[in-house]
Amino acid sequence: MHCPFCQHEDTRVIDSRLADDGATVRRRRECPACGERFNTFETAELKMPAIIKSGERRQMFDEHKLRTSFERALQKRPVTGDAVDAAVHAVVSDLRKSGEREVPSRQVGELVMRELKKLDQVAYVRFASVYRRFEDVHAFREEIEKLERDLPALDEKQLSLLGSDKQNKP
Ligand SMILES: [Zn+2]
Repeated sequence: MHCPFCQHEDTRVIDSRLADDGATVRRRRECPACGERFNTFETAELKMPAIIKSGERRQMFDEHKLRTSFERALQKRPVTGDAVDAAVHAVVSDLRKSGEREVPSRQVGELVMRELKKLDQVAYVRFASVYRRFEDVHAFREEIEKLERDLPALDEKQLSLLGSDKQNKP
């Protein structure tokens, strides 16, 4: 890169080391023309996608809000702070890795539900029941269709719970 002092076109890297637990590369550079030294820092550009709310509104991703959603659902549930941190991190990391510039809020909701399902069934149902109320008709219909597809499996499970025909099962 150019020298910020004399604008000379090339500078030499004289030292390079990791900082911030490996998240940053710090380089010490020297200008062969004026002899000035300076540091540059290299970090990955990891932008969070914007969240598309209902009615086409866009919103900056807000990790604090995400955590609040988890905490609200997990209120008085036996789940450690570390586990909540890991769940929040998993959602943030997935959104980041999506590489999308914008994601619908529904997608975030689905990720939260996925994590809650792993953490605590009660919290999962709690969140899902509130969340689904705010979802649009389309998502609701999808859910109904999914339930209908799962119905035969449910019937079978319920039948087996009755236990009457255990011996007749193939
Ligand atoms: Zn220079």
